[in-house]
Amino acid sequence: MKNKILAVSLFFLTFFSVHAQLKSPSDFLGYELGSQFSRHADVVDYFEYIAENSPLVTYHTYGKTNERRPLTYAVISTEENIGNIEEIRKNHLRQTGILDGTPTTDKAIVWLSYNVHGNEASSTEASMKTLYNLITEKQDWLKNTIVIIDPCVNPDGRDRYANWYNQVKQTPFNTSQDAAEHYEPWPGGRPNHYLYDLNRDWLWATQVETRSRLKIYNQWMPHIHVDFHEQGINNPYYFAPAAEPFHDIITPFQRDFQTRIGKNNAKYFDKEGWLFFTKESFDLLYPSYGDTYPTYMGAIGMTYEQAGHGRSGLGIETDQEQTLTLKDRINHHFTTGISTVEMASKNAEELASEFSNYFENTDRKYKTFALNGNKDKIDALKELLDRHEIKYSRANKGERISGYSFTENKDGSLTTTDQTLLVSTQQPKGHMVEVLFEPKTKLNDSVTYDITAWSLPYAYGLNAVASTRDYSGKNTTETTSNISNVVDAEAAGYISKWNSLKDPEFLAALLKKDVKVRFSELPFSSEGKKFDAGSLIITKSDNKNLEDFNKTVVETANEFERELTVANTSFVTSGPDFGSPDVKLIGNPKIAMLRGEGTSSLNYGEIWYFFEQELHYPVTAIGTEYFNRIDLNSYDILIVPEGYYGNALGNASVNKIKDFVQAGGKMITIGRSVGYFAGQDGFSIKENKVEENKDNANSPNLTPYSMRTRERIKGNSPGSIVKTTVDNTHPLAFGYDNAYFSLKLSSSNYGLLNNGYNVAYMQEPKVVSGFVGSEAYKTLENSVVFAQENMGRGSVIYMVDNPLFRSFWQNGKLFFANALFMVK
Ligand SMILES: [Zn+2]
Repeated sequence: MKNKILAVSLFFLTFFSVHAQLKSPSDFLGYELGSQFSRHADVVDYFEYIAENSPLVTYHTYGKTNERRPLTYAVISTEENIGNIEEIRKNHLRQTGILDGTPTTDKAIVWLSYNVHGNEASSTEASMKTLYNLITEKQDWLKNTIVIIDPCVNPDGRDRYANWYNQVKQTPFNTSQDAAEHYEPWPGGRPNHYLYDLNRDWLWATQVETRSRLKIYNQWMPHIHVDFHEQGINNPYYFAPAAEPFHDIITPFQRDFQTRIGKNNAKYFDKEGWLFFTKESFDLLYPSYGDTYPTYMGAIGMTYEQAGHGRSGLGIETDQEQTLTLKDRINHHFTTGISTVEMASKNAEELASEFSNYFENTDRKYKTFALNGNKDKIDALKELLDRHEIKYSRANKGERISGYSFTENKDGSLTTTDQTLLVSTQQPKGHMVEVLFEPKTKLNDSVTYDITAWSLPYAYGLNAVASTRDYSGKNTTETTSNISNVVDAEAAGYISKWNSLKDPEFLAALLKKDVKVRFSELPFSSEGKKFDAGSLIITKSDNKNLEDFNKTVVETANEFERELTVANTSFVTSGPDFGSPDVKLIGNPKIAMLRGEGTSSLNYGEIWYFFEQELHYPVTAIGTEYFNRIDLNSYDILIVPEGYYGNALGNASVNKIKDFVQAGGKMITIGRSVGYFAGQDGFSIKENKVEENKDNANSPNLTPYSMRTRERIKGNSPGSIVKTTVDNTHPLAFGYDNAYFSLKLSSSNYGLLNNGYNVAYMQEPKVVSGFVGSEAYKTLENSVVFAQENMGRGSVIYMVDNPLFRSFWQNGKLFFANALFMVK
């Protein structure tokens, strides 16, 4: 009894003293919140401190960034709920059908994500204030609500910004827009280490931050997700309701509840006399954002945009002659965060029941997507589905599935093999399945912030049918790969196919081990098998000096699951023999790429990531600012990423590149950088411009002012899928069929080459999904997507559509590998 009294009094003593003593962020950090940019490590320290000292908070690490900073989240609720948190979480997942069992009454779950864009740096500061406020003043709301706070989704980007700002800022801070502290240098703090925009990566999950976060997201599946951002310094604040277009899969409840949260935010903003706007600029379509992704996973997805971002520092004078300070920005983000938690708590039951309804999926138009194709491509798609914990199954062999054919763009069918993948909408995440696979995006407006098409069968290069019948669940057993090549010391060589990104990965590994590899420019047959052009040939005679040649090749092939065909002789049944001039040595190309001022940091990052994390092959990044001083002759290939090179590359640089190519080098130019070379002396590619209608040019402009945006979008092509014709006899297209679905990202299109090779192109425009403005559409006629031309002893490769865009257009990557290794 005595012990019990002691325990109870100790409890109260601890409880009250802990709460009395908890330090605010300012007290803990040693400076007033908003008077400095906190380093990420300091923010982590504060969250750790709170979790150690408050029974209302647990704090967890869910991963590590490329630069080794921790990725973290805090779970905040009442002490009772925290003590029962695992049961609450499981009960919540039972509402969705993701976990089996009968759910009991649910709690609201709100997830607040801060600072996905590193230089939108006020929100991480606001996360500390929000945490402190929730546990010291808002315990009542926490009785039926769990709040998850990720204080910094992008720590590498945020520290890049904060460290830079802390270095250059004046004391006191300078509010003049001209001051150096308001001009971030290239590449800025917005993206992550590999310069990816993490607010475009939720779905493709190519980056370690996203991959780590999704594991936790899937465990929680919140009712509400807020993504905190910042926008231009002159736009005060944005919150949902979002702008059109909305994807039409979004439910009336989701629309309505967004508006209700928005109105609650507005109430507090009006009270303080803070300006804001809603229903503009930020639409809900592209599924890879921090608002749409949660929305398609059943949540209310909110984007909050504060004026500020990398421009504003601790304080800046806006065009309205007001000083926007970091303290203001923190207060605004704090207010919307708290207002959102309030709405969750006040409507917890409604949120729970509507959430549960969302996962029923009875009214999905398509029930099954059936996909056939190359095993590597199927495997890549499965890997993506696994990251989102979307289920799939394997078909029974020899079944005929009818429906909309993605390849034919009309009704058709496919016959299943034992590899056919079935993905059904009749599962908890059925909404997301439909968004990802539907052949044509259902958008109800055409002015959008981002790409308007992403259908996965095209992105992964698979034959697919969308069926209104449910074929799912028939066969879930996995086929296991049983590739196990064995050494044949007598072999004249080994042959390996060239079909998917796995093949260049294998090639790169061989090259790094000094194995010499050839490829055939023509189809051939050997040992009773047919091989397409591009197939790799690894001969004994090329590798005489290599100890353990057979062992190295076989082990590497096993590691990459490549099936080798042993050739006993270089004499093939048909096609060129191994010693033929048509069987070319690949060599060990030395590759350079441009980075820095003028280049698109996003595209540079995509290429950087591709070499380091996918291909695993060395590349040297060269800054545009000293490009003219380096010796290009020590390289075989120069990659010029997307960019605006008008200022960054002058005539001297262009002449240097031309000399390099003429002497036998190869230049690969991508996206907008094609436009920089188009029309320049020596480059035959030319932009397709719409002929100005003479009558129009001379007649008065009677377009009403209010229609100016509508008028402008006629020239837009924000991102759509087009069908191109492929010359797969050209090395740039080895491994492809004679058609390729390309992601078109810009309205800048280029005419078919008169000199050189048009490798993927359109004569008639064929847009299979997504929006292209009527004027932009005209430029697609007779346009080229991938082309190559000879210049002197070297070669120029034009990639008008960026095949590495956000790393998600899986089927484009082999074109890029071909440009590196196959095109001579
Ligand atoms: Zn942002």
